[in-house]
Amino acid sequence: MTTLPQPIFRFAPSPSGYLHLGHAYSALFSWTQAQKNNAQFMLRIEDIDTTRCRKEFTEAIYEDLAWLGLTWVDPPRIQSEHMEDYQQALTKLENQGLLYPCFCTRKEIQQEVQQSGRAPHGPDGLIYPGTCRNLSATEKDERLARGDSYALRLDTTKACALTGDLFWKDQSKGKIKATPEIFGDVVLARKDIHTSYHLSVAVDDALQNISCVTRGTDLFEATHIHRLLQALLKLPVPTWHHHDLIHDKDGNRLAKRHNALAIRELRARGNSLEDIKKMAGV
Ligand code: GLU
Repeated sequence: MTTLPQPIFRFAPSPSGYLHLGHAYSALFSWTQAQKNNAQFMLRIEDIDTTRCRKEFTEAIYEDLAWLGLTWVDPPRIQSEHMEDYQQALTKLENQGLLYPCFCTRKEIQQEVQQSGRAPHGPDGLIYPGTCRNLSATEKDERLARGDSYALRLDTTKACALTGDLFWKDQSKGKIKATPEIFGDVVLARKDIHTSYHLSVAVDDALQNISCVTRGTDLFEATHIHRLLQALLKLPVPTWHHHDLIHDKDGNRLAKRHNALAIRELRARGNSLEDIKKMAGV
């Protein structure tokens, strides 16, 4: 008799601030799903953005999650320690002719969009107008030789043509047709950090053998692009479970930038685990 591999769930916070009630909800959601499915639970520290992430926040994540009663497979995966994995994935995409260097600054993109009189938006904001996709080989080579800094963008239309129709399974919404073209040509390697959220997540979920990706509905659309990257990189395809987000009493989504209550602050004020679970609606 063949035994099925053990399912694996994960929680993947970014250490750019202290965990707040929304994170507590998300972590407890993933953890509970893992328990229900007799699955392993993995932690991943998404710290590729060195301009925003700090070590002290990573330490605080370990402490807060342990306080919430969670345990994870040791060691957690720290993204900044695995840059070569993302580089390998970029090389695979490059070899398929799917990436191009983009030298544009934010300001140049804005100007280009203004001139065209159209400003289509996708889930990550303004859709890139494709300026550098159309650079001549000579101009591209000149700029590279000059040492101009560049991001790497995915030629999404070409990528979609290569894979054909793709689908993914969401535990609460069922079978979803992937529509990665809504993002336009996404950046897969930023100028400053040589990878991106989308690329690192797709690579890491595969390397950590995640069988079900649990995260908030704010990242539902991102799955379209992750599904495309999995197909291009020939990675295994997990299922997804996007959970609802929690809101404050005025109906605003909890987020770090809104000074949402940090778990450690609530703890310091004497709240118990039960109090926090109640506040998070778990
Ligand atoms: N690191 C992301 C965040 O903290 C979550 C990424 C994911 O779950 O795919 O919002």
